Amino acid sequence: MTLLDALKRPEYTGENRCPPCTVVNAVVVAAAALALGFLWIPAGVIVLGLGALAVYFRGYVVPGTPSFAPGLVAAVGLAGVFGHDEDEPRKSESLDANVDPEVMLSTLLDAGVLVEEPDGLFLDDDARAEWEDTMATLRKGSDDELADAVETAVPFEAEASPEYDGIGLHGPDLSVWLSRTQAIADVATLYTVIERGVDPMVALAATEPIRMFAEVCPSCGGALEETTTRDCCGGTASIYDSPEQEVLACEECGSVVYEFDEE
Ligand SMILES: [Zn+2]
Repeated sequence: MTLLDALKRPEYTGENRCPPCTVVNAVVVAAAALALGFLWIPAGVIVLGLGALAVYFRGYVVPGTPSFAPGLVAAVGLAGVFGHDEDEPRKSESLDANVDPEVMLSTLLDAGVLVEEPDGLFLDDDARAEWEDTMATLRKGSDDELADAVETAVPFEAEASPEYDGIGLHGPDLSVWLSRTQAIADVATLYTVIERGVDPMVALAATEPIRMFAEVCPSCGGALEETTTRDCCGGTASIYDSPEQEVLACEECGSVVYEFDEE
């Protein structure tokens, strides 16, 4: 038995490898390497190398991974990618994608879509101008034209059509209903972000977070305000469970542009 054989754990590698475990561990290793790399680059490189080898030969590095990784991965919506999802096509409220948020953030910063200032993250001025121009063009179109724009913009095969005052998008792997406001913002995001050289799947993942940076209503061009669903959008009789849900909404038409995470 060689040293390498001693290190290998066939029960967690090869055909027995658990994809969610590998992904969770790869993310943990990458995050640890990145954190250390900020302090001292060689330390980051060593952790990345050793961690990757360990995940490759031993299946996982984080103790107890097989007991929690599949559940964790399912909770963040990655499960569908690994073919364990035998349910109906996934229903979703937005155009999400299975992209690591850290990767998405660094990609958007590198592409100049977002800029990091001492007081936070901002949408780059040129990117904002193009995003708002595209939204202005899209909002003039009919629902049918918007549906066509959604179908063309998304980086996967799907059919879009006007549904329940919004746009329904149906593909082999997922079904999404987007409000007109979301659809206008997200199509404009896809155009603006992909044009800056960002991978289309990363751009897809960016559609929801980018809406947080909106300053005008995608639907009507009105001003936006941070409020709660109690004070807009149909109040407590609306689709929201919690009247105190904080949202970015239009002062004029009441469209919800972004829902802030509950604390
Ligand atoms: Zn509006």
